[in-house]
Amino acid sequence: MQGLMQDWPLLAHKVLDHAATCHPDQEIVSRSIEGPIHRQTYTDLNRRAKQLASGCQKRGIKLGDVVGTMAWNGYRHLESWYAIMGIGAVVHTLNPRLFPEQLVYIIDHAEDTCFFVDLTFVPILEAIQDKLPKITNFVVMTDREHMPETKLRGVICYEELLAEGDDDFVWPEFDENTACGMCYTSGTTGNPKGVVYSHRSNVLHAMATNMADALGFLSTDTVMPVVPMFHANAWSTAFSAPMAGAKMVMPGAQMDGASIYELLDTEQATITLAVPTVWLMLLQYLEQNPEKKLDALKRVVIGGSACPESMMKAFEEGYDIEVIHAWGMTEMSPLGTLGTRKGGMQGMSQEEWWPIKLKQGRPPFTVEMRITDDDEKELPRDGKAFGHLVVRGPCISKAYLKGEGGNILDGQGFFDTGDVSTVDEYGFMQITDRSKDVIKSGGEWISSIDLENIAVGHPDVAEAAVIGIEHPKWDERPLLVVVKKEGTEPDGADILKFMEGKIAKWWMPDDVAFVEEIPHTATGKISKLQLRQAFEDYSLPTA
Ligand code: ADP
Repeated sequence: MQGLMQDWPLLAHKVLDHAATCHPDQEIVSRSIEGPIHRQTYTDLNRRAKQLASGCQKRGIKLGDVVGTMAWNGYRHLESWYAIMGIGAVVHTLNPRLFPEQLVYIIDHAEDTCFFVDLTFVPILEAIQDKLPKITNFVVMTDREHMPETKLRGVICYEELLAEGDDDFVWPEFDENTACGMCYTSGTTGNPKGVVYSHRSNVLHAMATNMADALGFLSTDTVMPVVPMFHANAWSTAFSAPMAGAKMVMPGAQMDGASIYELLDTEQATITLAVPTVWLMLLQYLEQNPEKKLDALKRVVIGGSACPESMMKAFEEGYDIEVIHAWGMTEMSPLGTLGTRKGGMQGMSQEEWWPIKLKQGRPPFTVEMRITDDDEKELPRDGKAFGHLVVRGPCISKAYLKGEGGNILDGQGFFDTGDVSTVDEYGFMQITDRSKDVIKSGGEWISSIDLENIAVGHPDVAEAAVIGIEHPKWDERPLLVVVKKEGTEPDGADILKFMEGKIAKWWMPDDVAFVEEIPHTATGKISKLQLRQAFEDYSLPTA
């Protein structure tokens, strides 16, 4: 027997329809690229997205076409996502921090035929357009008044494209498994690989992240995604915030501590999301301006890299703001786990709860997760055994675009995240490392992340990274690489002394190296690859 419920495909634009119908006056506030703060409502967003969708259709964009975007978080970027997805085309977000050769490879591989670009990034596209013959039109995301002199091929002004559209456009219906979004993983090994989201996966993922024990956005919330829309689906906020009817604040191009603070404060954001490097800048700004307060802000979501204890403490104890530590990856839409208290933990003291809170957390419904050994055998959930973290669910990749990388699932349909972790008796997962970054010393593994998190707790350390250096006896030994805090002169021995007692003796780094800057990837993570290259010829004093 079949159920007798209606066919109501889970399409991304149904989220916008809902927001416009049920929360018509709720605001989307953007720091525009042109300068001023821009305000619109879900009614405006819905009307303009539909008109833009119609304009795109008239220009020949159709179901299955791939449309690139390179843009900051802002209202036009949001409108174009919904417009493009709403006609069954695929939004392919590009990270402007990638190298030109990587951009060319990715745009060409994905077969983008049209490209939406913010004013800031016009020069990037001008420089590579000759290598991108498949693109027929570049849409510059501004109005006529601000259109730049540009040599971009088939250039169209965004507001004019929108004006070409009909204002009585009706969203078409199609299969919910239709592709709607595309984002390439950074590909630290081999070429970048295309992750392809469907309407169904994005809607389900937004619902999962909106559960109360996860991020649970409310219509009374003001959500500020600092995490860019070009980085792993902006952690779903482009869908989950409108789904909840929350007010949205989009920070545009200004990501420094002062600008982020200003928006959080003037718009009274209640929840905000970003990678640790952004919060480092905000906390530094707050430290330098002790009179500034964040009265409305209740929760800060930190993910993309491990949240150091010192950062969590700074928010929680310094500003009474709850930190939610989250883990995920592009292939998971991206949220995989969140570190919120669960039933049975209410009575835990701070001392009991704090070490658990520092972990990456537990999965919401839709994510199945376990750790396995090299033979795909499940390891115990005891908080001690560590192994390959594998995941399964409806918002997790089953393959990369064009079958790149071959079969990516194990015998039971699980995807190997490439992370190494533990899972404790409460089901809380803790990343010990990426499998390629773990330090192999005397047949045992040392977690570079643990060492880094402890080292940044030292008052004179601004940033720390740990890599394995070849060692004649132990295979590899850890080297601690440190960026000093401005105006301080810590010495290596003092930092190592600070770490004593906080880690097993044999985990202690063999040496400390001071550098001006630690290299980062395009998604803001420490680039261990580049760091290892920089220290290729380094020999440890213990060798
Ligand atoms: P990319 O690989 O393109 O930089 P992703 O965002 O997909 O971008 O990276 C996912 C990886 O980031 C995860 O596999 C994990 O190694 C790391 N990561 C994400 N969140 C956390 C976290 N909270 N703690 C530790 N590592 C994290």
